[in-house]
Amino acid sequence: MLIECPECHQQISDEAVSCPHCGKVMKAQPSPSQEFFDTWRNQPEVKKIRKAQGCYNVGMLILTIIIVLVGLLLFIFSAP
Ligand SMILES: [Zn+2]
Repeated sequence: MLIECPECHQQISDEAVSCPHCGKVMKAQPSPSQEFFDTWRNQPEVKKIRKAQGCYNVGMLILTIIIVLVGLLLFIFSAP
């Protein structure tokens, strides 16, 4: 697939790391996991969920509460 270079407006491959005409660097190569995360994040269903609520923050909050509870239980049961 061909895209237009934003710098010199020549047609270049979207696979190209840099423009062969002017040398403009197209993009930092994303790591596969970052690419996967971006793809996942841009799914319409995920977008809907993210809009509805900050589910990530809620998950972190619940996780923190569980860790604190487990810590408290361990403290109680290990006390003499
Ligand atoms: Zn160019």
